[in-house]
Amino acid sequence: MVHLSRLVTFSASHFYRVQHWSDEENKRVFGLCSNIHGHGHDYVVEIMVKGKVNPKTGIVINTTEIKDIARQFIGNELDGKFLNHEHPYFKDHQPTTENLVNYIWSLLEPHLHSCELHKIRLYENDILFSEKGRDNMIHLTRKYHFSAAHRLHSNKLSEEENQSLFGKCNNPHGHGHNYYLEVTVKGQPDPTTGMIINLSDLDSIVEQLVLEKFDHKHLNLDTEEFKDLNPTADNMVVVIWNLLAPFLPKLHKIGLWETEKNYFEYYGPGDE
Ligand SMILES: [Zn+2]
Ligand SMILES: [Zn+2]
Repeated sequence: MVHLSRLVTFSASHFYRVQHWSDEENKRVFGLCSNIHGHGHDYVVEIMVKGKVNPKTGIVINTTEIKDIARQFIGNELDGKFLNHEHPYFKDHQPTTENLVNYIWSLLEPHLHSCELHKIRLYENDILFSEKGRDNMIHLTRKYHFSAAHRLHSNKLSEEENQSLFGKCNNPHGHGHNYYLEVTVKGQPDPTTGMIINLSDLDSIVEQLVLEKFDHKHLNLDTEEFKDLNPTADNMVVVIWNLLAPFLPKLHKIGLWETEKNYFEYYGPGDE
């Protein structure tokens, strides 16, 4: 089987509100997104399909066929719309990224005949995206940033071994990175709020437990976690999982970009 993706875009406006809640309650739960006049996003949808390569044509499906199906359904139903007012589905469902990806899946799936819809990833912006795959679960990923210094050095190795293994990264004065952290939760959207987890709750948990600890710090010198543990990105994804997991029962994955070229991820101790 071969997997392939096609990106399509659409723009829409929305707000999040529960009609029978007071203004205060809506603001408390949905924050700025509760503004009844709405706000908007340029959404990017990544449609991934899988199938067998046709030996005659050499392709699974013509990507323009995916584009045409997407244009017909996403284009007609969502593009340029105020989702709450103009779309029957979003009269009963909050137009969150979680509910939107679910809806887009149901729009496209019946129309892809020569291949199987494998995954849809919906970007609301660069730091928030949701995904749906065939297991019916929804994933929501939020991206965060911190900058930190570190020195790669294991106290289980000799000076010479550290120098030869880590080279420049073993510099006793340390060096630093722009880290980009991806926190993914998995579940079903709440029927009332449309969210797997309240985003402002997620943000404040990550802010307090991870960013405040590591942002603009020297990991070896300023943090308890890496006082005796080599602050490699490999160790960092596990440490960050352990910090967050007790407070995020739906935590699915920690992803960490150490640089633009080095990416690490961890699915928790159950993934052996
Ligand atoms: Zn929004
Ligand atoms: Zn480094």
